[in-house]
Amino acid sequence: MYDLIIVGGGPAGLTAGIYAVRFGLNTIILEKSEISGQIALADMVENYPGFPAISGLELMEKYKSHAQEIGVETKITEVLSIRDEGKKKIVSTDSGEFESKAVIIATGANPKHLNVPGEKEFISKGVSYCAICDGPFFKNKTVVVVGGGNSAIADALLLSKIAKKVYLIHRRDKLRAVKILQDRAFKATNIEFILNACILEIIGNTEGIRRVEKIVVKDLKSGELQELATDGVFIYIGIHPNTEIIDVEKNEEGFIRTDRFLETSKKGIYAVGDCRDTPLWQLVAAVRDGALATTAVNDYIEKFKKETT
Ligand code: NAP
Repeated sequence: MYDLIIVGGGPAGLTAGIYAVRFGLNTIILEKSEISGQIALADMVENYPGFPAISGLELMEKYKSHAQEIGVETKITEVLSIRDEGKKKIVSTDSGEFESKAVIIATGANPKHLNVPGEKEFISKGVSYCAICDGPFFKNKTVVVVGGGNSAIADALLLSKIAKKVYLIHRRDKLRAVKILQDRAFKATNIEFILNACILEIIGNTEGIRRVEKIVVKDLKSGELQELATDGVFIYIGIHPNTEIIDVEKNEEGFIRTDRFLETSKKGIYAVGDCRDTPLWQLVAAVRDGALATTAVNDYIEKFKKETT
């Protein structure tokens, strides 16, 4: 039986793994596809102390090699469910069951969908949730970015360096993004803001080569509809937590509720990073969560040992 199973290998999970090795806990990280996390999709990280500007991918590579060097055990396998049997946690995966004394959930979150006609049909054919992944396909083209948060503005800026024209569509007249990003976006000459507006439909060619051609935009003040020609639609309207595998207390949006030591409503099961109900979804917060939860796990396991001897 492992002391600790960490589900998810993003920054929060890897930090938990690094701390676990240092505590001498017998630990494994189970990750669905590749040790990485959402941060690997960030073009540039500029708010992580010690690194004034570093690409998300490069930072993730540094986490990975740190974890490897220190000897964190990882396995690529999809976790299907987690069963709490008191002092024993059973983690079912597509390659069998794993047992541990404690579990840290670090499953992160995925981009939310707009759920408008055409979105699903044109995913990877013009509809994208990641400018760093798909931006280069839109060199000198026209793209639309949806949303007013940090992700939308950061990626609109990235796209403004690749595409000829970027339309930023946001449902209110105020952006949510931090001021430094807003200022840069307002200065970019090829970003045009369409505020108080939403997308009703994404339309494109469905015969032969499938690709986006235009969108239908609704002015939320006047109710007027207009068609806007575009080659791509990048959607950033928030994130949805990957928490279906575990039955613990969650908030209305599905983010896992924890106490101040990051323990969930079930003893010995902790949650860290973007899947957790937290006011700050940031890299520094994820890293802090990983460290704190593992420290709490170490105390939990010490207590566990005393009780079983
Ligand atoms: P976010 O901050 O939650 O922003 C989502 C945006 O989408 C909001 O402007 C929201 O509008 C809009 N929206 C939500 N639902 C919508 C809908 N159905 N239709 C149209 N618009 C909709 O999400 P995010 O930008 O993805 O960021 C997620 C987290 O990561 C945030 O905490 C963010 O700070 C963090 N992040 C940080 C950085 C950084 O620090 N460099 C970079 C990227 C992301 P309203 O404003 O009207 O609600």
